[in-house]
Amino acid sequence: MEFFGHIIDGVEVESLDGGRFDVYNPWTREVWAQAAEGGAQDARRAVASARTAFDSGPWPRMGRTERARWIHKLADRMEEKVDELAGYDSTNMAKPLEQAKHDVARSVWNFRFFADHQRDHCGEVFPMDSGHHCYSEFGPAGVVAAISPWNFPLMMASWKIAPAIAWGNTCIIKPSEDTPASVTHLGRLAAEVGFPPGVLNVLNGHGAPAGSSLTADWDVDRVTFTGSSTTGKAVMASAATHLAPVSLELGGKGANIVFDDADLDNAVYWAVEAIFRNAGQICLAGSRLFVQDGIYDEFMKRFVAKAEELQIGDPLAPGTKFSALSSRKHFDKVTGYVAQIEELGGHIYTGGVATDGSWVVRPTVADGLALDAAPYCEEIFGPVCIVNRFTDEAEAVRMANDTRYGLNAMLFTENLSRAHRVSSQLRAGTVWVNCFFIRDLRTPFGGVGDSGVGREGGNFSREFFTEPKAVVMQITR
Ligand code: NAD
Repeated sequence: MEFFGHIIDGVEVESLDGGRFDVYNPWTREVWAQAAEGGAQDARRAVASARTAFDSGPWPRMGRTERARWIHKLADRMEEKVDELAGYDSTNMAKPLEQAKHDVARSVWNFRFFADHQRDHCGEVFPMDSGHHCYSEFGPAGVVAAISPWNFPLMMASWKIAPAIAWGNTCIIKPSEDTPASVTHLGRLAAEVGFPPGVLNVLNGHGAPAGSSLTADWDVDRVTFTGSSTTGKAVMASAATHLAPVSLELGGKGANIVFDDADLDNAVYWAVEAIFRNAGQICLAGSRLFVQDGIYDEFMKRFVAKAEELQIGDPLAPGTKFSALSSRKHFDKVTGYVAQIEELGGHIYTGGVATDGSWVVRPTVADGLALDAAPYCEEIFGPVCIVNRFTDEAEAVRMANDTRYGLNAMLFTENLSRAHRVSSQLRAGTVWVNCFFIRDLRTPFGGVGDSGVGREGGNFSREFFTEPKAVVMQITR
């Protein structure tokens, strides 16, 4: 059976007390591996390693071009190992292999992007009328604790690790206890390519004590977290005890608005991607779909037909587009919401819970729920789309914004003025017009309200992962 240890000081190790936990394959519902159960002392060991690497190691002190070279070397190695990395995520959380390979490519791009970004965006100069000149300097912040979820195990972790180490920090990543495989393997690859010890540590284990010990450690200078809004609040409170700045990327309940004049084929294609890709386990999922009256029936007919076409099966089998949910616990949660839909007066067009004992919830489309019904308001984080109709633009905007979340929204229209008008009225960190899931890493990423605190991406990551400094120099006397 495979084992995923901690990577501390560049070496894969067991927990100090030898504790391990089982790791499941959600498609077979069997234990396929074990991982080290990190305790408070293991967390301390990982932080101490990162601290030493930061305080006296070469990483924060090397030239920016050299650091970029190291990170590209890791990215090259990831590309050589794409089958292994994708295979781990696919086995570990039932992500269809094709989607897992896409995630590896995106993870590689995260590393390459931030390697180059820190090399090319390292300061600004401001000539002053007073005869001085002033420049900003973006020095590394120190030790970064990064905590990531299970839905995009490698991609979410790399989105945090890449800017952290690129800007000269050292890092401890704690992957979700449900998906330790690919991130531990990334730590192994970093050691293999010769990263200085302590630059990238991997701590496996549960939220408490592994994660909570990291966030509470006074040697940690930044905490970057992606996960649920509830956990995010605990993480922020813990980091506040030693005033470590936090970046929180939290839950969502994305609105997807389809206007009468939309290109229907395009809107249906993206509506399916937005809620059924990764079995709906996407913070950005289009889980609240709003369709204008004039096209409602036609849209629903096509949307339901496409949802039913998705090939459900073994995530490793060619052609599979949709598979099991990531764990028994999550399956039970999603199943609970599906059961409520009809109890609360909703109508299910297609989908529902598989009855073969698997952890599959089929692509589910429903409407007819009140606007305060739990499956409509709360984040299900599964393949469940709740649809509503609207009559005009103002109503669509009002319904879309009526949520505590504000991570993202989508809108589909061929009317250019409406596209701009509605985009600017939506209370969300990202708005996609006539598309979904496309990112430019230079732009801000994050959410409003319960969807998060702060932004990452491009210069936003630079500001979070560095200690910006102003230097004012007299030029003329
Ligand atoms: P979670 O909050 O249960 O766990 C996330 C991570 O936090 C895990 O590694 C977990 O072990 C750790 N953790 C748990 N308790 C902790 C504590 N007290 N202190 C420190 N760490 C702790 O979330 P999840 O179920 O793994 O992920 C799903 C959630 O993540 C959804 O709400 C989803 O919307 C959100 N998410 C958000 C984004 C985004 O970019 N905004 C991206 C992906 C997922």
